[in-house]
Amino acid sequence: MDDSNQTPVIDNAESFSFKAETKQLLNILIHSLYKEKDVFLRELLSNASDALNRFRFEMLTNQVVLDANTELCIRVSADKETRMLTIQDTGIGLNRSEMIENLGTIAQSGARKFLEVAKDQKGDFSQVIGQFGVGFYSVFMVAEWVKVTSHSFRPDDEPVTWYATGEDNYQIAPAVKAERGTIIEIKLKEDAAEFAEEYRLREIIRKHSDYISFPIYMGPAGMGTETTQINKQIAIWRTSKQDVMGDAYKDFYRQMTLDFEEPLLHVHSITDAPVQFYALLYVPKKAERAVFSIRKDDGLKLYCRNILIDEYNKDLLPEHLRFIQGVIDSEDLPLNVSRETIQSSALMARLKKALTNLLNKEFENLAKNDPDKYAIFWKEYGPFLKQGVAANQPDAEKIYPLLRFKTNLHPETWSSLEDYVGRMQPEQKNVYFILGEDPKSVLRSPHLDYFQAQGTEVLLLTEPIDSFMLMGLHKYKDFELQNVAQAGKLDNEKPRDPEAEKEKIAEADFDGLVKRFKAVLGERVADVHASTRLSQSVARLVEPEGALNPEMQRVYRYLGREYEDSKKILELNPSHPILKSLLKLDPESDLQKMVIEQIFDSAMLVEGLHPDPSSMVQRVQDLIQLALEKN
Ligand code: ADP
Repeated sequence: MDDSNQTPVIDNAESFSFKAETKQLLNILIHSLYKEKDVFLRELLSNASDALNRFRFEMLTNQVVLDANTELCIRVSADKETRMLTIQDTGIGLNRSEMIENLGTIAQSGARKFLEVAKDQKGDFSQVIGQFGVGFYSVFMVAEWVKVTSHSFRPDDEPVTWYATGEDNYQIAPAVKAERGTIIEIKLKEDAAEFAEEYRLREIIRKHSDYISFPIYMGPAGMGTETTQINKQIAIWRTSKQDVMGDAYKDFYRQMTLDFEEPLLHVHSITDAPVQFYALLYVPKKAERAVFSIRKDDGLKLYCRNILIDEYNKDLLPEHLRFIQGVIDSEDLPLNVSRETIQSSALMARLKKALTNLLNKEFENLAKNDPDKYAIFWKEYGPFLKQGVAANQPDAEKIYPLLRFKTNLHPETWSSLEDYVGRMQPEQKNVYFILGEDPKSVLRSPHLDYFQAQGTEVLLLTEPIDSFMLMGLHKYKDFELQNVAQAGKLDNEKPRDPEAEKEKIAEADFDGLVKRFKAVLGERVADVHASTRLSQSVARLVEPEGALNPEMQRVYRYLGREYEDSKKILELNPSHPILKSLLKLDPESDLQKMVIEQIFDSAMLVEGLHPDPSSMVQRVQDLIQLALEKN
């Protein structure tokens, strides 16, 4: 087919070369076999919508604009005969330098992310282009050539045209376009002719762009042409809950985020006091924003009286709720705001408080009404909530009811602090916890001896964030949290079982043993003495009085900060058979020394403090040898 008469002649054009990475991207796009090419339309409409939003935002503070009264809208028109598709908006527009800046290089967008992933994993990422939101350039999947003509909103800017075929160069030339905004003319490739069919365009717009908040009309602008609006243009967050039908919440989420997984939860709230707001918030299924997401950053979309004033607002929620996606719209925000001043307004602080409470309540309800779903939520977002406690904001206490723990008595299920308190021993005054590296090995800790024997419940804290959380969680209701690894007597400590007491080594013998331990371990321990709590284990290490507590030591370790690694006290179980046998050995014998060393090393190991565990191997071998020789 001869299309040469279609190729535009651009007068006075100046030629520019695309940046290297843009060339790479274009090359991938032009040659991709990606089937769902329709995503290009979503990208162009989303750009048009951005341009309209930006214009409306500009109007809040600037009256000197071109065509102030023109309707803010998008027009899509197509001609089957010539395979031409045109997308026009009355948005903010582009001048010459903005065109070079924005259409000659890759913006900060999904395109760059796509290129990075595509580059270092040689896979054929052209198959998933649609999931990356590669932006404007995706038009080259369907275009023989593209012409962008624009007149910026600044009355003094000259209209200008940008033209490219997807090869290495693009042209820029002066243009004739009186009205404000941008018109994108696309000459479709033969195999993309479907995009010149109106029914197809309608279908795509409904699927991907239904919630664009400006009308999208079908048909060319101008006198005498019939135009119809295609998109529903619903500000779904302003619609009352009972009027939101079917999958509308999910559809809106999908169009906003491009997340292909359904959200875990949505919260829709329309509130009048103490601040007026519409909120539509989502908890995504995954905490990590997918590489695919078109959301480039954390933060909520902030509208003020239905005008988008911030695409990624981070001041509406505390840091630990940064995984929330969604829209906030308020009638109370002053319209003449700038993104900078809004941040510090008292109203924003009130909004933030209201939204945080709203979400907390919603999470609590979920926990109550659907514990299985809450478990999924907790697995994904538990570390965020713990961070919220750590950040020690005044509201940390409001997060306590949301926390979940594994415990020594219920190691397989999640328990809340309320569950724990409900199961406490009659005289129990503390909420006990143990810190460890992983949920399995922590159960073998000697610190649990006493608690297991008493049937007392202990929270198992085995995530790095836990030590940080403890900085903001000292007390639940009337019960102080207490580390079971601490030295000294517990409140209400019960005597060890009478059988064990009967088995105790005589005091004089025990003192002799302690002397031997001190002689062998020397400077490595602060002290050696009898334990009142051990029953199964032979020894444990505890902090001396006044030392930095183990929680804080962990925090320092994780932060890579230097701290004085205090020497520990070695507590011995005075009824343990190993110590009794040890007594019978010649105090000067190598075997006694080896056993003492090994008891100390094992105690270091369970604390996760041993600097070089493999150094024990030789000694263990020697001990095995000795044991075998005895037989
Ligand atoms: P992104 O939209 O992710 O920034 P794109 O490649 O889609 O990346 O677009 C690049 C830039 O070109 C946009 O950021 C915007 O500045 C500009 N642009 C694209 N389309 C339009 C339009 N219709 N009106 C005004 N500017 C536009």
